[in-house]
Amino acid sequence: MDQVKIGQFIKALRREKNLTQREVAEELLISEKTVSKWETGNGLPEVSLMKPLCDLLGISLNEFFSGERLDEKQYYEKAEANIMSLVEEKAKAKKNIVLSIIVIVMALIASITLILIAGLIDMAVWLKITSIVIAVILLVCGITVAIVLDRDAGVFECPHCGERFVPTATAYVFAMHGITWRRLRCPKCHKKGFCRKKLSRENET
Ligand SMILES: [Zn+2]
Repeated sequence: MDQVKIGQFIKALRREKNLTQREVAEELLISEKTVSKWETGNGLPEVSLMKPLCDLLGISLNEFFSGERLDEKQYYEKAEANIMSLVEEKAKAKKNIVLSIIVIVMALIASITLILIAGLIDMAVWLKITSIVIAVILLVCGITVAIVLDRDAGVFECPHCGERFVPTATAYVFAMHGITWRRLRCPKCHKKGFCRKKLSRENET
């Protein structure tokens, strides 16, 4: 799904209908800022707003997700592709979380094994040191891979303005966190807060 293309499509249709962003916002009982966010490709409408928006703009949901008007032949082709991309986006996010857990567990097992070997088995000192160095490198690599995978797996939602964003790697690593939240600075309203992890950029409800 191409958010930018969808945004431009919404904007073009709105103008075709001689509607202002404010009028669309009032019709859907949302803020003007939200409409502007969609049009600039910085987010998709919540699921509950998609149908009303499409009705207002005179398009089908399928055309909405495609970001263009479709003729009958294209309609069926795009429908399949759009459904798949919706499903895949969520599946990919879940797969990355599982993968990052596997990677870190394997790195842990490998490095613990190496440290145990170095500690318990009688061998040359340089060999022991080499084992421990390899163990540390493995662990660092494992953690790095897990962080990158995990970071890509989801976006965080600002508790103040509802903005969803992917934090930078540095912010992500050093942020205070629990399993489902992280204390991050929102790129939109610049407030720090306990941001909840979400599986996709769209709002689910
Ligand atoms: Zn915010």
